[in-house]
Amino acid sequence: MKLAVLSESPVDEAFIRIIVSKLLEQQTENIATHSLRSRGWSAVLQVTPSIIRNLYYKTEAEALAILIDSDETPIHNKSHEEDQKSSIGCRLCEL
Ligand SMILES: [Zn+2]
Repeated sequence: MKLAVLSESPVDEAFIRIIVSKLLEQQTENIATHSLRSRGWSAVLQVTPSIIRNLYYKTEAEALAILIDSDETPIHNKSHEEDQKSSIGCRLCEL
């Protein structure tokens, strides 16, 4: 699988590539990692739309994995999908 990764650091990127390969039980091929690296949560949120467009139109990527820290924000749970008020501050819902 051709996998692109967007994360807050190169260490996070290496980690998520291992996890995705194990979950899918197949090797992943790296797509455009240098241009996708970002710094910090807000940067990831800001660049994600253009990254998705770029991957869709200009690469052969089959998947995009995004890794972000929750830090002190609420952890995502199913109630966020049913009630927008409960999702306030959840980074996954914002993404
Ligand atoms: Zn959420």
